[in-house]
Amino acid sequence: MRSTHDTPHLHHDPLTARTVFAAPGRAQRPNELEGATIRCPFCAGNESLTPPALLRSPRSAAEPWRARIVPNRFPIVTDTAGDSPGEIGQPGAPRPAHGVHEVVIESPAHVRSILAIDPADWRSLWELCRERLATLADQSGLAWATVFKNSGPRAGASLEHVHSQLVALDFVPPAILAELAVAGRTADPFGDLLRQAAFENRIVEEAGDLVAVVPPAPRQPFETWILPRTAELYFHATTSDRVAALAALTQSLIGRLDRLLPQADYNWWLHQPPYGHAVATHAGAPVPARWHWHLEIMPRINGLAGFELGAGCHITTATPQDSARRLREA
Ligand SMILES: [Zn+2]
Ligand SMILES: [Zn+2]
Repeated sequence: MRSTHDTPHLHHDPLTARTVFAAPGRAQRPNELEGATIRCPFCAGNESLTPPALLRSPRSAAEPWRARIVPNRFPIVTDTAGDSPGEIGQPGAPRPAHGVHEVVIESPAHVRSILAIDPADWRSLWELCRERLATLADQSGLAWATVFKNSGPRAGASLEHVHSQLVALDFVPPAILAELAVAGRTADPFGDLLRQAAFENRIVEEAGDLVAVVPPAPRQPFETWILPRTAELYFHATTSDRVAALAALTQSLIGRLDRLLPQADYNWWLHQPPYGHAVATHAGAPVPARWHWHLEIMPRINGLAGFELGAGCHITTATPQDSARRLREA
């Protein structure tokens, strides 16, 4: 039994409206990328080193697994379904961090790159994530969820075996509130983004009705966003065609990045709006009807330095048009 001191809490800074997750238990994580020698908990044969799978692909336990989703042993939140401790940002003691934190083990083999995964398995993996996100969307007490990837040490990974993470929270995080606030000022913010990307030659690639674009102000060279051409709020409610297109585009874009900068570290994260039931109580801003879920892929080429942290503005060495052209040609 963990003490209260060890359970994850949210610390809120009223001066900056910044929220920090304090999860002291994560200091116990093995860090293979900092030289620790470990028995990899994600390899086939080592399943006893993780909690039992919540979901696996293929579904039949008679066949060997190709991907599995398990609870994170070092979570940033505590799962207490249905019991919200209230709004963040209230004065007083740090508030417990409630939600769900899981690991998506993307291959039974000890490989580092998603490029080593068979495309059909990769498609099944995105289906698995979609299914898990849909289940969480029905769970009371949760407001928002994402799936994100840290690939390589500069991107924050502590284990090299290919994996990503799934987090659901009982509040709407600042990055989403900021997008909702800005997007709410125009009728069709993502349609405008796509039209402008076409006009400025920032489209990298298309698959089905998904488009990969370099955003207007990329924080790093080769930053790319993948989004559907037409409005759709939630990835967890999308079609299998779009799931397949997302799988194809993620492998293709990481392949292009890898040819430009071999083994470049990168992050990606899914942005979807808060769950419908959570908007009234948590978001503070309505979800525009024409919002598009999107996956933001950010290579980690330049570290975050003093100006980024102190001024909140990024400095990059590539123009958006140049990044898009080089990705297209790679
Ligand atoms: Zn492994
Ligand atoms: Zn976004």
